[in-house]
Amino acid sequence: MEILKGAEVSARMKEQVLDAMKQYEGDPPMLAIVRVGEKPDDLSYERGAMKKMESFGFRARSYAFPEGIPDAEFRNAFQAINADPGVAGILVLLPLPKQIDSSAVAAMIDPKKDLDGISPVNMAKVFAGDASGYAPCTAEAVVEVLKAYEIPISGRRAVIVGRSLVVGKPLSMLLLKENATVTVCHTRTVDLPAVCRQAEILVAAAGKARLLDGSYVGDGAVVIDVGIHVDADGKLCGDVDFESVRERASMATPVPGGVGTVTTAVLAKHLARAAGVLTE
Ligand code: NAD
Repeated sequence: MEILKGAEVSARMKEQVLDAMKQYEGDPPMLAIVRVGEKPDDLSYERGAMKKMESFGFRARSYAFPEGIPDAEFRNAFQAINADPGVAGILVLLPLPKQIDSSAVAAMIDPKKDLDGISPVNMAKVFAGDASGYAPCTAEAVVEVLKAYEIPISGRRAVIVGRSLVVGKPLSMLLLKENATVTVCHTRTVDLPAVCRQAEILVAAAGKARLLDGSYVGDGAVVIDVGIHVDADGKLCGDVDFESVRERASMATPVPGGVGTVTTAVLAKHLARAAGVLTE
């Protein structure tokens, strides 16, 4: 089984952006990372994203708010970030605490700065197959991995496990745009292993540690693991039981070292587009 390495995909994307940056004049574009609270997952994602932006030649700034900030106060502060001409792109770490109206925030964000595709405008563009918007970075990262390794998508049977708004649903649209035949599975899917075994491209985005073992994988399938978990031993793992799929899959992404690395590279690419460094 070939291991699909996120670092290699990310390195190529970085080269493309650094190359385009040579023609760019002015201050490096800035990403605003908006965080409410101090969740360890958010802090670790933020650190990774900031490092990645710097390595791509960009700037990133964290705008952190206390967990209990009232909705109106947060939205006022958010509007100031949104309107700041020095901010080229915004990443809001989700989910926001309950007192904050997340859909109102998603509706407020300037679609041109909405690098993770949470605004209704960008969601509609993903649905319409219009590449001028921003798709959620993780969903796009899956397609980047497939394309970087020249894995054919057109005409292939793709099965996605998970129907969330940030991964499963937008990814189904992106794969459809690439002419895959797409099945989206969820908690009510009957006989999930049998449906998954039909996949030539199997994407795990269920948010359940090691849910998919070898019995879910058809011979020769390409397995892309979106999940990120910390197991009982404190080790990172995905939604796929990596060792167990080795015998069946032809290719698979590991966790760590797979889709996660590419997700922040897509974020950087989106920032490059928002700032006009890249046109596509
Ligand atoms: P979510 O919890 O919002 O959605 C999970 C989806 O999986 C739901 O649609 C649910 O119906 C489905 N599901 C759950 N259990 C299932 C089961 N037993 N059988 C079939 N379907 C099942 O999660 P999410 O935000 O989409 O994230 C999914 C995973 O991806 C998580 O592990 C998350 O940490 C990870 N993630 C990774 C990145 C990255 O950059 N790699 C980014 C975002 C999320």
